[in-house]
Formats: sequence, structure tokens, C-alpha cells
Amino acid sequence: MSRIFSIENLTLLSLILAVFFGIYFPEIAQNIKIFGDVFLSLLKMIIVPLVFTSVFTAILNLESISKFKDLGLKAFLYYLTTTAMAVVTGLILVNLLMPGKGEKPDGLKTPEIPQAEEFSLERLILGLIPQNPFSSFAQGEVLQIIVFAIFIALAALTIDKFKQEIIKNFFEGFNDALIKLTKWVIVLTPIGVFALVSYLIAEAGVDILLSLWKYALTVVVGLLIHAFINLPLIAFIFGGYNPYKYFVQVREALLLAFSTASSAATLPVSIELAQEKGKVKKEVAGFVLPLGATINMDGTALYESIAAVYIANIYGIDLSISQMMVIFLTVTLASIGAAAIPGAGLILLTLVLGSVGIPLEGIGLIIAVDRFLDMVRTSINVWGDLNGAKIIDRFVK
Ligand code: ASP
Repeated sequence: MSRIFSIENLTLLSLILAVFFGIYFPEIAQNIKIFGDVFLSLLKMIIVPLVFTSVFTAILNLESISKFKDLGLKAFLYYLTTTAMAVVTGLILVNLLMPGKGEKPDGLKTPEIPQAEEFSLERLILGLIPQNPFSSFAQGEVLQIIVFAIFIALAALTIDKFKQEIIKNFFEGFNDALIKLTKWVIVLTPIGVFALVSYLIAEAGVDILLSLWKYALTVVVGLLIHAFINLPLIAFIFGGYNPYKYFVQVREALLLAFSTASSAATLPVSIELAQEKGKVKKEVAGFVLPLGATINMDGTALYESIAAVYIANIYGIDLSISQMMVIFLTVTLASIGAAAIPGAGLILLTLVLGSVGIPLEGIGLIIAVDRFLDMVRTSINVWGDLNGAKIIDRFVK
């Protein structure tokens, strides 16, 4: 019975109702937008502290600088490479297939987008360093927050063990509470979706839904390319094993990821399978997989890059190369900060959209298919982690 009234089913139901509501009661629909805005604000409320505590505790869990140097740096290199590949795949695909392009409904206003400044390496590097971390927190500068979290966590690894435990416990507790809060906010999804979608339909008309299938297809195709071409390529070249055979060996974890839409929930099974079937050393699996579940999300990164460009297309926004660059960077880092639970990628998407000024309301549209895409992208997240463990295992004595 409770399965029938699950959040996913209720969200689907509220989506269907919202479409009719938006068509038949447009005036009321426009007035209840506030509920959608509250929902979006609640999501945004969580981002900054969640990103900080996730990255900070992931590094502190390494327990020593030497372990960070040995395992950590290799893992980071792998994570960054594959995540960047995923985002590039997503951006190429979405620019080729152009879902939503030219489908801007008449009712929808194209917002003024502040032009991104010309790209420069100098500005990029300087922009990563928080001159005042509190102002980075206040402004929601996630890249700077991540850099700060990494630095401070590394420093914390060198201090007195007793004091180290105190801050670790504090931030771990804080992180747990934030994840709990995220789950609570996710319970409100049906209400948020109802308000956002009925508003969107009232404003833009029902045609807007028709372009959704093309968006979902673009994401799924991108995820499949990453899973069966990009990652296997890295596995063949650097790992020296047959990734397709490994895929069959660990399929249980991938199926679990698909059905739970949570890398964290899948973690115990991935660790077990990597060791048992993949013959990955215990200490490598025990480190690379939990860290990967927290910060390595290829599927999420790929999906976010496509979602951002799709929403921009729907609003009739033409993104410049510099803006694509900003999306590339924000998505790469946002996927690091996303929690390994259902719907987390969607929360971080607000940040990606905000980084180039794409209207956050666009999220109301893609929520309709988000749970399904979440299931697929989570499997790819876990598949990326499992390959990471296997490849890094080869380079660790
Ligand atoms: N559900 C994903 C995961 O747990 C995160 C996301 O929402 O993209 O890996």
C-alpha cells in the first residue's frame, strides 16, 4: 500500500493533475506559484552547507595526508578525468540534438541573461580561491567552498588526533542532519511539482511538455555512451581489464543503484562486489568506493549539463562559448558536491542554472521525468566508481 503512495507515484500523479489544472484554471495556477518557489528555496537552502560538509568529511575520512597523497590523488585524478569526459559528452550531445531548441512557447518570456565575461585562465584560477570564505558561503560560490573544504580538511588531517576527531564528528553529524533535511524536502516534491508545473502550463501552454521526451532521450543516450564507450576506453587503456566482463560481474550493484536511485544506499553492495568479483584490494575498495559515492558522479554531471542547456533552449536563451565553459566548470564541481541520495542532482542543478542566469523555474518542467533519469544516472555514477576502484587498484602497491 505504502508503495502506491510513494513520493515517485505521488509526484507523477501531481504532475498529471497539474497539467489539467494549468489548462483549466490558469489564474489560480498563477497564484499558487508561491508553493513552487518555497520548494525551490528549500532546495537552495541546503546546497551550501551540504557541499561543504560532504567534501570536508570525505577527505577527513582518509585519516592521513600520506593516504591522501597515495590513494587520494590517484582517485581525484580519475574522478576529474571521467567527470570531465561525461560533461563534454553531455554538452556535445545536447548541442547536436538540440532538445527544446526553437520550441519556446509564446507565453514564456526570455529572461535577460547577464553576459558572462570573456574566459581567462587567470580569472578562473583566482576565482577558485576564496579571499573570504564567509563571503563565498554567503554568495553561494560553490567552487570556492569546495576549494576551502579541501584545504581546511587537509590541514585538519595534520592536527592533534583528539581535536581532529572533534571537528570530524561535528561535521559528520552536521552532514547527516543535512541529508535528513534533504529527504524531508524531497517529501514535498509532489506539492512543489504541482505548483511549478501548473504555473508553467498556465504561462506557456501544454505544448511545452511535448519536447520533454527528446530531452530525456538525449540524457539516456549520453549516459549509455559514457557507460559503454568512455569508461570502457579508460578501463582498457589504464586498467588493463575487460570492462564488459566486469560489467556483468557487478551488475547487481548497478541494478540496485537503478532501483534505489542512491549511490550511498548501493555502497555496501558495490564494496562487496568489487572485492569478491573484481578482486579489488580491501583497502582500495574501502576508500575509493565511499569517496567515489560522495564526490564522483559522472552520470549526474552528464545529466546536469544536458538539463541546463535544454532549459536554456526552452527559454530561448542562446548560450555563448564562455557560458558553456561556466556550465562545464560548475557542473563538474556541482557533481562533486551532490549527495549520494535520490534527487540530489536536481538540487545542485539550481546552482548550475544560477551560474549563467537560466531561470530556475525551468526545473519545474524537467522534474516530470527526473525520477526515471535519476535511476539511470545513479547506475552510471556507481559504474564509474566501480571502474575507479578497479583501475586505481592496479596502481596501488
Ligand atoms: N541519485 C544520485 C546518486 O545517488 C545523485 C543524483 O541525484 O544525481 O548517485
